[in-house]
Amino acid sequence: MFINGEWVQAQSGKTREIMNPANGQIIAVAAEGDVVDAQNAIEVARQAFDSGVWSDLSPAARASFLFKVADKLEERAEEIAHLETLDNGKPLRETRFDVADAAACFRYYAGLVTKPDGQTYHVADPMQAMVVREPVGVCGLIVPWNYPLLMGVWKIAPALAAGNTIVFKPSEVTPVTSIKLFEILQEVGIPKGVANLVMGPGATVGNELAENVNVDKISFTGGTATGRSIMKAATSNIKKISLELGGKSPNIVFADADFETAVDYALFAIYANQGQVCAAGSRLLLEESIHDRFLERLAERAQHIRVGPGTDPQTEMGPLISQAHMEKVLSYVEIGKQEGARLVCGGNRLQDGGLDQGFFMEPTIFADTTPDMRIVQEEIFGPFLAVQKFKDEADAIRLANHTVYGLAGGVFTSDGAKAMRVIKKLRAGITWVNCYHPTYNEAPWGGYKQSGIGRGLGTFGFDEFTEVKQININLQVEPIGWFEK
Ligand code: NDP
Repeated sequence: MFINGEWVQAQSGKTREIMNPANGQIIAVAAEGDVVDAQNAIEVARQAFDSGVWSDLSPAARASFLFKVADKLEERAEEIAHLETLDNGKPLRETRFDVADAAACFRYYAGLVTKPDGQTYHVADPMQAMVVREPVGVCGLIVPWNYPLLMGVWKIAPALAAGNTIVFKPSEVTPVTSIKLFEILQEVGIPKGVANLVMGPGATVGNELAENVNVDKISFTGGTATGRSIMKAATSNIKKISLELGGKSPNIVFADADFETAVDYALFAIYANQGQVCAAGSRLLLEESIHDRFLERLAERAQHIRVGPGTDPQTEMGPLISQAHMEKVLSYVEIGKQEGARLVCGGNRLQDGGLDQGFFMEPTIFADTTPDMRIVQEEIFGPFLAVQKFKDEADAIRLANHTVYGLAGGVFTSDGAKAMRVIKKLRAGITWVNCYHPTYNEAPWGGYKQSGIGRGLGTFGFDEFTEVKQININLQVEPIGWFEK
């Protein structure tokens, strides 16, 4: 772990073996911290913040550190992408993209922090009113295992750019690339205590970050149930909170859509990163008249997806993150059958051809679903697609919004006006027309309803790591004369 500018073991001496989900081999042994380690890291982050060693630097000075981090991520891109593939399982073509995106995210926030900011207000003379943004303070950042590096960078880059100090907790199963990132933060010379890395379980380390009164802000990405518990813990000192939680996002295909484009994106929407994506298009809504033909083509293509170790350049879909998670996803195959849905393709663990030690699963599609089935309502977080049939535009909108989540959604149609009508009715924070998944450092990321609170990325994501201060200046310095004597 990296605390106060030094690499340290957990105080308890505990460690955790890190497994490659493609073959079950141990690739690393990581320190496993607990509450005491988290408290130490929070204390030094508090001192570092209060000292002004980082927040008092000019924005340009902070930016220069962040630009260097981006450069070093790019220099070490191949090494870090390989490590991410070994740790998380996803194919190299995805982890290369993640590392490039992480570097771009540092550059984006390094650039943003020196741009014009704040507001002035025209109020009654002789007053001048203005608003400035200031860092929130000590930020606890907690991320999951599905994009270990990238989810971290989405928080670390804006938090540091804004002048905060941080305590970062990766998922205990995927700490490897976080360690590389903190090596880089050390190399570029970020002052001691500003950026701290604590590994360990969510129930102890994560909960301490959410509860500790010396943490001013908690920013979390992960499951909705965990988000709920973090909200409760964060009441201790009324922390500012940002939550990016789960989803069950609808991908709506109208009969007038470009057929092959829609099929292609429907696959990408659910099977990228093995479906372990919060914004995955895990519900495919098909207009009645194309339903059967679309499903046939989709299943044909899904069965051709090359599943294997992420290190194999031929691989298009890797293993799930762990045995327990694979079993959870597979259990939904049984649930779907019991609920009376039709298994169109997939549904099995893959073990042939040297895959038996890993956690591989076939791309799976269920059709003939009803809106209240568990496979339609619950976030499965795997290569598992639930197909729904709709009659018309109103029906599509009703089905799409029939969920407690509201993270993302896509619409495929050649009718531009219809696309906009549907998008405007979708209760979701991230939407796409005639595509699915593109994500930009410049644009806000986050959800409606139980998909979260606040937004990451873009200027919105920066603002989440700032407080707003109103400043009122009297331009005529004389007594107000409210009281006579
Ligand atoms: P979790 O929400 O359990 O974990 C995300 C992060 O939160 C991890 O670092 C975890 O620690 C930490 N954490 C766990 N419990 C607490 C707690 N009480 N207080 C503070 N931090 C905590 O997600 P999982 O990784 O276990 O995945 C579970 C489900 O969450 C998935 O099946 C999926 O539905 C959803 N998910 C959604 C994601 C999204 O981007 N929206 C991403 C990943 C998962 P640790 O795991 O190290 O113990």
